[in-house]
Amino acid sequence: MNKILITGGAGFIGSNFVRTLVQDGEYSIVVLDALTYAGTLTSIEPVFSERCQFVHGDIADRDLVEDLFEKHEFDYVINFAAESHVDRSITDPDVFIRSNVVGVQVLLEASRKHGVTKYLQVSTDEVYGSLGETGLFTEETTLDPSSPYSASKASADMLVQAWHRTYGLSVNITRCSNNYGPYQFPEKLIPLMISKSLSDEALPVYGDGSNIRDWIHVQDHCDALKCVLEKGVSGRVYNIGGNNERSNLEVVQNILDAVEKPHVLISFVEDRLGHDWRYAIDNTRITTELGWSPKYTFEQGLQLTIDWYLNNRAWWKSLL
Ligand code: NAD
Repeated sequence: MNKILITGGAGFIGSNFVRTLVQDGEYSIVVLDALTYAGTLTSIEPVFSERCQFVHGDIADRDLVEDLFEKHEFDYVINFAAESHVDRSITDPDVFIRSNVVGVQVLLEASRKHGVTKYLQVSTDEVYGSLGETGLFTEETTLDPSSPYSASKASADMLVQAWHRTYGLSVNITRCSNNYGPYQFPEKLIPLMISKSLSDEALPVYGDGSNIRDWIHVQDHCDALKCVLEKGVSGRVYNIGGNNERSNLEVVQNILDAVEKPHVLISFVEDRLGHDWRYAIDNTRITTELGWSPKYTFEQGLQLTIDWYLNNRAWWKSLL
């Protein structure tokens, strides 16, 4: 059975990915997570077993990472560990450089030294910067990050590419659009708006709410990641998107309608600094080369997500 290291597996997407792999039963799993404010053990504890172990630690801690690779001889490494909130990167960029850049270099070096079969870096469409009214991000779009967060993720992508070209490490980079679904920390748009609307609080929307994102259900993202891990051509970047472009205002209005709350709860607030206007993904490469495509429509996925937050109040309320 192949052995995989999943870093950041106590976070939103990582915990969904851990559950996906545990269900499939094809891998022996070690989860490494620093349990920052965004990491929650309760998201994955129920699936811990002899075949899914947890290690508390920082990916930028060279000695710890080296010991872990020495002990486990991983076949695969997938890196979700990162500081991931753009607003926090604007007020406190230092930790983004340590976790998102230095941490990646530590993982790459350990992966190279221990000859892993594949290193997969979970990146973001935000590395491409902003689009205008038309066009889509392809894998050839120039990296043009706007925020300290996206600049740190773009830096990591460059390191991954360098470890492939210079040392021949087998790698993939995935660049995905905005995720939503169960176990997302309630500071991100969709769970924040769900939690605020349920308690009749004002829903803060940046600027005039016209910024557009392409939304993907986290399970579709996890399925795409497994596909790239197992079938992706080494050295290649794969964009992943849900084909669901929506303005922030539309998303917030959809949530209010679903929970039967009035639109007057929406409160427009001063725009985020350097706020990218539009992201949209061209999925052609992953759909034609690897046969993946998203299954959830935004309407289905959003309703399922709202239902999950309604049924799991204890999980998110404890984080607020
Ligand atoms: P998250 O913030 O929910 O989870 C991040 C996890 O990483 C947490 O469990 C945290 O404890 C852990 N972590 C942070 N720094 C660490 C460190 N130095 N060492 C070990 N663990 C550390 O993030 P998420 O939304 O699940 O995103 C996961 C990855 O996917 C990130 O790399 C992010 O850039 C990328 N991504 C996210 C989205 C999205 O919409 N959420 C979209 C595209 C790409």
